[in-house]
Amino acid sequence: MTEQVKRTVVVTGGSRGIGRSICLSLAGPDTHIFFNYFPADDEAPKTEQMVSDAGGSATSVEVDVASAEDVKSFFEKVVSETGRIDVLVNNAGITRDALLVRMKDKDWEDVIDINLKGTFNCTRIAAKTMMKQRCGTIINIASVVGVMGNPGQANYVASKAGIIGFTKAVARELASRNVTANAVAPGFIDTEMTASLSDKAKEAMMSQVPLGRMGTPEDVAAAVAFLASENAAYLTGQVIHVNGGMYM
Ligand code: NAP
Repeated sequence: MTEQVKRTVVVTGGSRGIGRSICLSLAGPDTHIFFNYFPADDEAPKTEQMVSDAGGSATSVEVDVASAEDVKSFFEKVVSETGRIDVLVNNAGITRDALLVRMKDKDWEDVIDINLKGTFNCTRIAAKTMMKQRCGTIINIASVVGVMGNPGQANYVASKAGIIGFTKAVARELASRNVTANAVAPGFIDTEMTASLSDKAKEAMMSQVPLGRMGTPEDVAAAVAFLASENAAYLTGQVIHVNGGMYM
């Protein structure tokens, strides 16, 4: 594979939702996409097929981003197969919502481990290759609630606010090696993550969106595709908000 592939992209949580749309938005004849998911599900092969139908190629691997060991083996596979990493999109994320006083330790730990530590695990490893290459771009998926706060999501909000701070630190640290790091902060997006919200919670969210509709995974993927392109070469340490005006 090494000879044909000109651009290697890694997307975490690419099996469905926003991650799948990101894979599709970055697919192309010169690009190979490695994406992961966890735990095993039926959706990953569908994303691989969709990327292939879009004229690109993709490999999916079951990897828990919260496990530094699994992440290490995954990135070793990526680099051994293509010799490089051009774009890393840290998209994998979960919610375990509960009011603060009822939040269980495990709800807190799982969300921080997957959302924030997962982003750290993947970025730490990919950065080594990108620094050697003297180029690369890291895109972290945060959330509007990471800047606004949201009741019932103290764990998730802390993880997403952490991702924004992490992105800025990484941007400053890697800039001298021509490696950029930015965040995309989606608002209220139509995926399985939001499908389980009650009608009341959905209505409350929608009333805060000036554009009057939920976002689509494609709305978010378009911002990621821009950040991954040459057109964004002079952007680093930024947060791009994709939220229909929910936060200005
Ligand atoms: P989703 O539909 O629930 O998809 C989550 C993805 O993450 C799936 O591919 C899932 O894999 C993967 N994943 C979960 N735990 C993982 C782990 N431990 N290791 C590796 N992969 C794991 O979620 P989404 O709505 O597309 O959200 C994607 C990102 O956008 C998340 O970071 C989320 O916080 C953020 N976001 C979403 C919204 C929204 O309104 N939807 C708003 C703001 C931010 P499986 O398929 O194997 O489960």
